[in-house]
Amino acid sequence: MTTGIDFGTTNSVVAQWNGDDVEVLALDGEHLEDEWFYPSFEYLFPTIAGESSLRLGTLFGWEAKLRSNRVIEACKRMLGSDGGVQLRDRRISATAVAAGVFQAMRERAASSLTSIDSAVITVPANAKGGARYRTRAAARAAGIAVKTLLNEPTAAALSYMHDIQEEGTIMVFDWGGGTIDVTVLEHKDGVFEERASRGVTQLGGLEIDRRLRELIVRKIGREPELSPEERRQFELAVERTKIRLSTEESVLTRIPGSGRLIEVSRPELEEQIGRLVERALEPARMCLNDLGMDTTGITDILMIGGTSQMPCVRRAVERLMDAPTVPAEICHPMTAVARGAAIAAAIMDGELDSFLQVSSMYALGTTAKRNDDGRRFFSEIIKPRSPLPTREKKNYTPMKDHQSELKIEIWEADPDKPLNDPENFQLTTLHVCYPKPLPRSEASFTLEYTYQQDGLLHVKATLDKTGDVLVDQEISDFTHGLTLTVDQIRREMTALDGGAPRPAPPVSVPAPRPPVSPPAGKRFVVDGSNVAWLGRDARAGDSPSLEQLLGAVAALKEQHPGCEVDVIVDAALAHQVSPEERRELEQCIRTGVVAQVPAGTEGKADRLVVTLAERKDAVIVSNDSFKELQDEFPWFLAPGRMLGVSNVGGEWVFLERRPVRARRPGTGGR
Ligand code: ADP
Ligand code: MG
Repeated sequence: MTTGIDFGTTNSVVAQWNGDDVEVLALDGEHLEDEWFYPSFEYLFPTIAGESSLRLGTLFGWEAKLRSNRVIEACKRMLGSDGGVQLRDRRISATAVAAGVFQAMRERAASSLTSIDSAVITVPANAKGGARYRTRAAARAAGIAVKTLLNEPTAAALSYMHDIQEEGTIMVFDWGGGTIDVTVLEHKDGVFEERASRGVTQLGGLEIDRRLRELIVRKIGREPELSPEERRQFELAVERTKIRLSTEESVLTRIPGSGRLIEVSRPELEEQIGRLVERALEPARMCLNDLGMDTTGITDILMIGGTSQMPCVRRAVERLMDAPTVPAEICHPMTAVARGAAIAAAIMDGELDSFLQVSSMYALGTTAKRNDDGRRFFSEIIKPRSPLPTREKKNYTPMKDHQSELKIEIWEADPDKPLNDPENFQLTTLHVCYPKPLPRSEASFTLEYTYQQDGLLHVKATLDKTGDVLVDQEISDFTHGLTLTVDQIRREMTALDGGAPRPAPPVSVPAPRPPVSPPAGKRFVVDGSNVAWLGRDARAGDSPSLEQLLGAVAALKEQHPGCEVDVIVDAALAHQVSPEERRELEQCIRTGVVAQVPAGTEGKADRLVVTLAERKDAVIVSNDSFKELQDEFPWFLAPGRMLGVSNVGGEWVFLERRPVRARRPGTGGR
C-alpha cells in the first residue's frame, strides 16, 4: 500500500492512496473513549508509549494516553539528542520507543486489513540531522522502509495544492502540542520550495493546558489534593476542556477526587492565553521579515495542528495577515500533513501523475585539517537544499606520507558553523586501507557522495593515481555516537514487551504495485457471519470470532491481489462475539471495513449478500447455500459464482463450490 505517515511529536496520522484518492486511516479509533470522540480524533494515534500497573508490556496510542500510569513521549525526546528514557527497571533509547510506536501503528493497520510496509514519513521542517536519521532508523526497525522523509509544511502544502491546483506563496502556520512552526513555501511549476521557516519550541498545546489548569485552580480556590492517578485524570480533564472550548461557549470540568464541577467560558480561556497567542505570531512576522515581504506576498494561509483549531488563534493570524485563512474543510488541521505524505508516496510510486522534488536539508561532507593551524573543519561535498538524487565529488590528500590507513568521517553539517556545533551530526566513520603505503604526492583520492531521493547516502573513494577503489558502500546504519543501528534498536525493543523476545519484523522490499482498478470479476461479497461462525457450534456454547473473519478476509485479499471485497454481517453478530471483539467490530463497522445489516432486515444478511453480489457481479464467499433465496436469485447456482471457505492447519483456502440445491416441494424422495 502507498502510505504516508505524519509522525508528529504529539499525534501521528496515517494516510494511504487507494488508487483514486487519499484515505486517512482511523487506526486506533477502537481505543478512543467516548469522552475523547471529537471530530477527526479517530484518525489520531498519540505518539506515546505508556506503562500501566494493570498491564504487562507497553501501551501505545490512545491506550497509552488514556490508560497508563506513566507516559513516555518518545518522539519529542528523539528530536533533541537521544539521551534515553526509563522504562520500568531499564533505560532504553527513545529511538527504540519510537520504533515501538511505528510497530504499534503497523499492527493496528494490519488489523484493519491494510499494511504499512513502506512509507513517506514527515518530519518537522526544523528537525535536525540526528532527528531525521533517528526517525528513519526507528521506522526501519519496525519493518517500514522509508521512501523519503518529507518536511511537514511541504506535506501540508502538497495536500492543499492537490485539491486546489494553483501556484502561489503559502504560509503554513503549524501549532501543535509542543511547538509552533511557521514556514513560507513557494509553489511554482509543480515544485515546492521552502523559503523561510521559523519556530518556537516549548510553545504548544501543553503550554495552553498549563495556563488553563492555573485558571481552574484559581477558581477552585486552592491546589486540589490529588493522588498520582487523579493528577493524570486532572491533566486529561484540562486538555478535554480546552478542546471543547474550541467549539463550545462554556464547559463544566469535573475535578477528580472531590468531583466538584468548575465552569470555564471561552472568553476566560482566551484572556488567560492572550499573551501566548501573541507570542505565537512572532515566527510568522519573522518569516516575512526574513523574506523582506509584507503580508500581501502570501496567497494562502494554512492552519495546521491541533492548537490552530482554537478560534482565537485563527482570528489572531487573520488579523496579523489581514487576510482570511484557508478553512478547515478545505485543509484539515489534523490530517493534511499525513494526506500530503500519502500523495507524495503516490507520486513516487508513479500512481499519481505529478511531480515532486525532494531536496536535502543540510550539507553533507567530511572533515579535513587546515594546513596553517591544523584545525579540523567541515569540508562540504553536497550543498544544503540540493535537489535529490545528486552526486558530487571532491579531492583530498592525506596529511602525512606513507599512511597505510585513512579514517573518513561522514558528516551532515552547516558549513557556516564550527564543526563542534551541537546541530552538526556525524553519521559514521569509514576505515579505509591503502593497497600499499604511498608518499603524500601519490596518495590523493577523490571522494564521491551519491545522495538518493530516499535519503540514503552512498560513498565511494578512488585513488587518483591508479583508479583503485578504496571504498564503495552505502551508509545505511549510523554507528556513530547518537544513532543506534537498526539491529540495536530491535534488541532494545524487546524491553517494550516486558522482556519477552519479539521476532524482528522483516524490512520489506517494496511490493509490486497493485493494479489501480481491480480486474473484472475479482469482486467478492463475504458472508461475514458465516465465516465468523466457521468451525464453531452455537449449541455447544461457542461464540463467533471476528478475528477469524478478519483473518479470512486478509487471506482472500492476499490471494487475489487488487480485488474488491465487501464484508456483510448480521446485526446479531455484535451481540454474539466477545465483549473485546464487540468494540473492534463496532470500529470495523464505523470505518466501513465491515457492513452490518440493519436489525429487522428481511432475510437478514443472506439477502443483502446475494443482492449486493448480483448488483456488483461479484463472487459470494460463504459455506451457506442460501436455500431460501435460490428461487429468487437462480444465477448464483451457476458455476463460478461462489467460493467456499476452509481453514486447513492455519491456512485459508477458498475453493469454488456449488450451493446445495434446495428441495422443492413435491420433488422429494418420499
Ligand atoms: P503535533 O503536531 O505536536 O503532533 P497535533 O497537531 O496533533 O500535535 O496537536 C496536538 C495538540 O493540539 C494537543 O495539545 C491538543 O490538546 C491540541 N488540540 C487538538 N484539538 C484541539 C482543538 N480542537 N482545540 C484546541 N486544541 C486542540
Ligand atoms: Mg503535527
